[in-house]
Amino acid sequence: MTATKSYAVQSATSPLAPFSYNTKEVGPNDVLIDIMYSGVCHSDIHQARNEWGGSSYPMVPGHEILGRISKVGDKVKNFSVGNLAGVGCFIDSCRTCPSCLASEEQYCDNGTVGTYNSIDKQGNPTYGGYATHIVVDENYVLHVSEKLALEGVAPLLCAGITTYSPLKYWKIGKGHNIAIVGLGGLGHMGVKFAASFGAEVTVLSTSASKEQDALKLGAHHFEVTTQPETLKKLKGKFDFILSTISAQHDYNQYLDLLKVNGTMVVVGVPPTPSVVNAFSIIGKRRSLAGSMIGGIKETQEMLDYCAEHQIVSDVEVIKMSQINEAYERVIKSDVRYRFVIEIASLL
Ligand code: NAP
Ligand code: ZN
Repeated sequence: MTATKSYAVQSATSPLAPFSYNTKEVGPNDVLIDIMYSGVCHSDIHQARNEWGGSSYPMVPGHEILGRISKVGDKVKNFSVGNLAGVGCFIDSCRTCPSCLASEEQYCDNGTVGTYNSIDKQGNPTYGGYATHIVVDENYVLHVSEKLALEGVAPLLCAGITTYSPLKYWKIGKGHNIAIVGLGGLGHMGVKFAASFGAEVTVLSTSASKEQDALKLGAHHFEVTTQPETLKKLKGKFDFILSTISAQHDYNQYLDLLKVNGTMVVVGVPPTPSVVNAFSIIGKRRSLAGSMIGGIKETQEMLDYCAEHQIVSDVEVIKMSQINEAYERVIKSDVRYRFVIEIASLL
């Protein structure tokens, strides 16, 4: 057991505040990670504030974890003390269902054990990355290259894989005209990957001030969706749309921008459902699909791709004490483009 400092929320309406606990024992297959950086995902806010329902408290958020291994269990094969290590949104799964056997653990039939806001197989609550330490089974830990700027690597563990996975699954690349909706943590990674895969990328944003950044990130075009003329002009233009919008919005106005046979993949999870009009999909045989993070194997593939292509997240590094202010800025769509907590600021 390792004495751990963290920030936690005690209820849906309380701010994040200091919280101490002991990690679980390092079991034979576990590694102890001294956390260095932890990304701030909009999902942390949704869950801290119980916007999706089912949250339990105290909650230590954080599922974009980067650190160094300081202890390994007797049976650990693939990691040694001193190695960099990444942890994403889940730390265990049933390991026997078809999804787990296909290394798509995120779709485990029996439900994954979440990195936080979850109960592990021993019946204990899980606490996430806004903390100095975490103990994780090595099978759910990722290898990270020493060649990348480490603060920019942490967000790859959720924002990175959540955008990489659907772009790969729908085979997006050269010859595809695609749109990324919402230029936040997920959106900016979607732009980097889609551009790197060779697609023609348009950012659809509500924030006119993000245009120059979008182009620097690799987008070819930028459109402000709050101007009614924009959506009219873009009707039927895209082969594929990746929507990262975190708040209530009208799906139909984006579905209308797809070509015949086009697909819109939703990764953003607004707290309330949206009505989809049948006419938005039948007329042009359009598809509306969803995608959730990615499996361990694909997350490793994504991290290796990033090391090879020098891709990291664009981040604002903050101290732990700035976290409540950071949450407010994320909600105002004012993050450029991911907050990352320097965990040393907790010590
Ligand atoms: P974020 O950094 O806050 O980005 C969301 C972006 O959506 C904002 O920056 C803004 O971009 C746009 N937006 C916000 N409100 C909007 C509105 N009312 N209408 C249109 N656009 C709006 O959040 P994030 O961390 O990238 O996460 C995005 C969503 O994905 C969250 O709901 C999160 O829970 C979810 N998520 C899902 C998965 C998954 O596995 N599927 C994984 C991680 C996160 P502009 O300023 O450019 O308009
Ligand atoms: Zn996330």
